Amino acid sequence: MNMRIGVSLLLGIIVAVLVFCGVKGIRSRRSIGRYVGILDFALIPPVLGNIIVICTSSQIAAEFGYYIYFIGMNAVMCALVSFTCGYCKGVSGGQQKPLFLYVVLIADTVQVMLNIFTGHVFDTEAVDVGGRPYYRVVSHSGHLIHMIIDYAAFVCVILIFIIAAVKTAKIYREKYLVMVLSLGLCGVCEVFYIISRIPIDRSVIGFGVCGILAFYFSLYYRPMRLLDRMLSNIAWDMTDALFLFDPTFRCIWANDAAMRLIGLESSEVDTAGEALVKLFGPAGRDYHEEWCIEKVTGTDEQISYYSLRNHLVTEERNVAGSFLVVRDNTEERRKMQHEIYNSTHDTMTGLYTKEYFYRCVRDRLSGTDGDYLAIFVDVKNFKLVNDIFSREFGDKAILQIADAIRNCMTRDCVYGRLGGDTFGVLVPKDIFRARSVERLLSGFTVSDGKIEHHLLIHIGVYEVTDRSVDVSVIFDRAHLAISSITDIFNTHIAVYDSELRDKVLWEQKIALDLHEAIEQKQLRPYLQPIADSKGNVVGAEALARWIHPEHGFMPPAMFIPVFEKNGMIVDVDRYMWRCACELLSKWKGTHDDLFISVNISPKDFYFCDVVSEIQELIREFDLEPSRLRIEITESVMMNDAEDKMKILSQLHDAGFVVEMDDFGSGYSSLNLLKDMPVDVLKVDMKFLSRSESMDRAKKIIKSIISLSYELDITSLTEGVETETQYTDLFEMGCKLFQGYYFAKPMPVSEFEEFTFGVK
Ligand code: C2E
Ligand code: CA
Ligand code: CA
Repeated sequence: MNMRIGVSLLLGIIVAVLVFCGVKGIRSRRSIGRYVGILDFALIPPVLGNIIVICTSSQIAAEFGYYIYFIGMNAVMCALVSFTCGYCKGVSGGQQKPLFLYVVLIADTVQVMLNIFTGHVFDTEAVDVGGRPYYRVVSHSGHLIHMIIDYAAFVCVILIFIIAAVKTAKIYREKYLVMVLSLGLCGVCEVFYIISRIPIDRSVIGFGVCGILAFYFSLYYRPMRLLDRMLSNIAWDMTDALFLFDPTFRCIWANDAAMRLIGLESSEVDTAGEALVKLFGPAGRDYHEEWCIEKVTGTDEQISYYSLRNHLVTEERNVAGSFLVVRDNTEERRKMQHEIYNSTHDTMTGLYTKEYFYRCVRDRLSGTDGDYLAIFVDVKNFKLVNDIFSREFGDKAILQIADAIRNCMTRDCVYGRLGGDTFGVLVPKDIFRARSVERLLSGFTVSDGKIEHHLLIHIGVYEVTDRSVDVSVIFDRAHLAISSITDIFNTHIAVYDSELRDKVLWEQKIALDLHEAIEQKQLRPYLQPIADSKGNVVGAEALARWIHPEHGFMPPAMFIPVFEKNGMIVDVDRYMWRCACELLSKWKGTHDDLFISVNISPKDFYFCDVVSEIQELIREFDLEPSRLRIEITESVMMNDAEDKMKILSQLHDAGFVVEMDDFGSGYSSLNLLKDMPVDVLKVDMKFLSRSESMDRAKKIIKSIISLSYELDITSLTEGVETETQYTDLFEMGCKLFQGYYFAKPMPVSEFEEFTFGVK
């Protein structure tokens, strides 16, 4: 009786532990956990069946217990097979689930259940155990089949584990051997039961324990040897060099990278400490502390960068040793340096990029005293070099300029490429020799071996007097200085001085004032009479004047060139065209024969649609187009002559009188003239008298006048100052006259009084 209670109690404890392991296994996040859980739950019915058999004195209950036990064991075998497959997964390509085994186990379950009707599996017979009947199994053929199937499945499982242990890498072997061992334990239990022939079947204890061991080994057990081996393998393969020292700084282990670093054989590992000191010099730190330092070995091309990190290994507050990790950062550093170089240097010339150059200039100016000059280098018409020769030649030219700059520089200079054909230089004032630079620039030629071309290079110089000014502004000023060069072929250097600064400030100021000036009518048309050969006023030219509240009366020379440069001229001209139309409209009905000439700047064509705007004005004021004369300078024809020709034709066809202003002043292209739809040629006496002798001037004017006669174009001479000039021109056949001899430009009211005699 005592034995029965003891075994039942033991089995009860096993059931409780199996429930615990089953729940834990199912809940585990690891995939094997589910298999362990199922196995442990599957083990519960046969154990319970066994408890019933042991505890009961009733034959029916005992047989019921045996059914649970036999069928449960089949379920256990299924679960065990699944668990085994999961556990051995990944070994030599993974284990396929033996479906055949499941089928056989299910068939056996059916066979065992049929025993109820056939009695071919087992019977029970009572034996006396502790004064009470214990029903033990009387086996028939079916039972034998059942046992063969279960044992075969069991042996298969053990074989799978053994195969896995053999096939796997050495370090994992332990993982499988522990399972072989626990299954073996279970097998021993079973064999013991069979051999000892003791009445009470306790073999299920072995299975229960096996389930618990499976739980432990698959979810919790980490074989120390396995971990050691894995760690040392990882450490061996690490790219960082790793040295392990004992507390006396004797090297006890070093990985492959470490041995390669110090150039020793693995048998010489205990001298690694000295080799390290030889390579890096003394660490300067105690190896009984944790530290990290950077070391550099070699020079130039052979230079290498390392980081050394020493870690301590302690055991119960005592230093058990240390390990040193040496990382080779050379590649990383080189890559970084390369990246930094690329981001700070222009790929083509190798000079600093604009951003980096500005940064270096900023650093230099804030870090040193002394006077500096900021220099802006610009190639005139560089686009033409590309166009006329080739891009390759252009690239060569840029490289040769970059080389020339490099060769002229000393250590105290900073230089870089600011853009396509512009460069910047910061030089100490005392080393800048303007004369030798001028000489260098005046003879600067580039060549590609075949072609040689003289490059026109200008440099603008700005003396850095105020270091608080932003570097970009400093170089803008140096750049600006270039714009003050008038004789572009003979002057190569321009300095940003107070005059230039005042000019820039002036330009900025009047640009800001313009719109208010238009709104408040500070800007006004002055009219200069135009007379016919009899001296009668037939029209006037509208010329802009600005009566500035601060600067007083301003002639156009003070503002027109500024607005022509910045494009605001279009606002001035639009306003002047409107004023002229207003006047013509005012004179309508009384002085219908008078015309007004307005000036059109070349820039107007870029910023507005001249033809439609003027036509719109004519419509608005309901004027005869011929009353508004359009003055265009010949320089307009310089670019896109064909387009311009079209515009002139449109104006001409719309009934406007088109005048070619300042004819003969510069680019006059006589051959263009014959095709140009021009009605009036305006010749300026000023231009002729400036450079030519009076006789020559006369000849030129005479030929222009006769040419215009031939082309059926009216000739108008402006700048007529004396009576002699007037009579000479009259005799030459000139038709219209404008000049101080008749009248200067005057306010509208004065013009009206002058012409109509009314106030
Ligand atoms: P421009 O169109 O050639 O105008 C003729 C200039 O010659 C005027 O100078 C006029 O005052 C001056 N002038 C006339 N007769 C004589 C003379 O007998 N002797 C001398 N020495 N000069 C004489 P102004 O008014 O100073 O205009 C200068 C230039 O400014 C103009 O030359 C024109 O190119 C430009 N300009 C004036 N007003 C406007 C305008 O509203 N729009 C545009 N785009 N340009 C304008
Ligand atoms: Ca004019
Ligand atoms: Ca003119």
